[in-house]
Amino acid sequence: MASVTLIGAPIEEGSGRRGCSMGPTALRIAGIDSVLQSLGFTVHDSGDLKPEPAAEFAAEATLKHLPVVAAYTRALDAATFAAAEAGSVPIILGGDHALSMGSVSGMARHAEKVGRPLFVLWLDAHADFNTPATTPSGNMHGMPVAFFCGQPGFPAILPEDRPKVAPARVYQIGIRSVDEAERREIATHGVKVFDMRALDENGAAATVREVLAAVEAENGLLHVSFDLDFLDPDIGPGVGTTVPGGATFREAHLIMEMLCDSGCVASLDIVELNPFLDDRGRSARVLVELAASLFGRRILDRPTRSA
Ligand code: MG
Ligand code: MG
Repeated sequence: MASVTLIGAPIEEGSGRRGCSMGPTALRIAGIDSVLQSLGFTVHDSGDLKPEPAAEFAAEATLKHLPVVAAYTRALDAATFAAAEAGSVPIILGGDHALSMGSVSGMARHAEKVGRPLFVLWLDAHADFNTPATTPSGNMHGMPVAFFCGQPGFPAILPEDRPKVAPARVYQIGIRSVDEAERREIATHGVKVFDMRALDENGAAATVREVLAAVEAENGLLHVSFDLDFLDPDIGPGVGTTVPGGATFREAHLIMEMLCDSGCVASLDIVELNPFLDDRGRSARVLVELAASLFGRRILDRPTRSA
């Protein structure tokens, strides 16, 4: 039977505000484990990571809370890699988006080991491609894509010889808030960006088909990183970085179903849920519903009418 491994990553230090540390608990209360079990998966819940801050980075001033972010990066790199190597699908319960520095690095290592290229689908209002040189805030949840793509300027958190993700294999959907320097960097490095206008003009189905065609053409593994602010704040209010004009529930749901049908998805991050800002658990429940769709739940039966 297929198995998934839940890895709680209660990091909030990458985000510049408190609250995301409660995310893993909220996702469990909303039933992430039972819904996956009901879909036929064996669910291993490895609990929450709580790594000791990496003291060697204590003097770093530009990158906020680097000792904590570095510790989570190392712990998640190891945990995600181990789960994938054991034949399970790692699902990282965030926590802020800095956690993807570790989860994607772990998956890049696994992909290299099995001889397949790693693709990343970044569902987010933000490109998260800042570097230590371009960051306006110093908050590391705005930097994970630049980190796992091997951009220069980051401290040596992981060994230098670790595999990186090719920027041209990073697909971003839902983008609607990008810093100026980030915009230049993304274009220079060939990150594939489908902003909200592209989603409006072409539709979610055509957009996802394009991404999946690229993954399938190279027999790739796909890591999905789902930032709650990808959704419109009307349906996902529990996030510290709301940007109006996000994806609707129907768009997100269709994307999840198409990803499920493809069979390409190897791992998932669910990030930036801040239960302190949520409306009675609404965002947590929406995220669990979407995860269920990604792992095979069909909400709409399509019965054939008998003649
Ligand atoms: Mg993000
Ligand atoms: Mg975001």
